Amino acid sequence: MLKMIDLPYPLTALEPYYSTKTLDLHYHILYKGYIDSTNKIEESLEKARNEGNFENIKCLEKNLSFFGSGAILHELFFANMGPVIPTEPSINLMEQMIKNFGSYEKFKKQFTEASKAIEASGWCLLVWVPKWKKLEILQCEKHQNLTLWGCKPLLVLDMWEHSYYLQYNTRRPAYIDAFWNIVNWNEVNKRFNNL
Ligand code: MN
Repeated sequence: MLKMIDLPYPLTALEPYYSTKTLDLHYHILYKGYIDSTNKIEESLEKARNEGNFENIKCLEKNLSFFGSGAILHELFFANMGPVIPTEPSINLMEQMIKNFGSYEKFKKQFTEASKAIEASGWCLLVWVPKWKKLEILQCEKHQNLTLWGCKPLLVLDMWEHSYYLQYNTRRPAYIDAFWNIVNWNEVNKRFNNL
């Protein structure tokens, strides 16, 4: 059974960049839904194995990928935000960014533009690709499509409407700009060091 992770800060901690109401709905309703659904799917899979009945297997595997990835990405997202206390990429991460993107500014610009250009529901991710030993930026559709196999998400931004519409309406760029104020680089650095 998957359990919800605790938010590493109070619901009000990301104000004014990420409103209390948005975070409350995002965490208690939407994220909880992904955890509950993943658990339900795991139960159905166990039942299917025990009964030897794989009639619904295609649907179950598809839902496992969707809801499971949704659960994982939300946990990464909540943890890679934090109160407005300035943090920055570690020396190691910065060196890698310079190597792969040219500079921090170029990384930030690409991540911002990639976030803006996501079609409908999806995520923007800074990832480490072990096979290539390099950082890349990916646009993910829904929670699970358009990945590179084996990549490790380091920094993720939720671009589903539920993550910004209440506060920013259609002003996606304003939401993305605000996000940069509440990135918790300490968490991103930890993920990079633990590769
Ligand atoms: Mn979300």
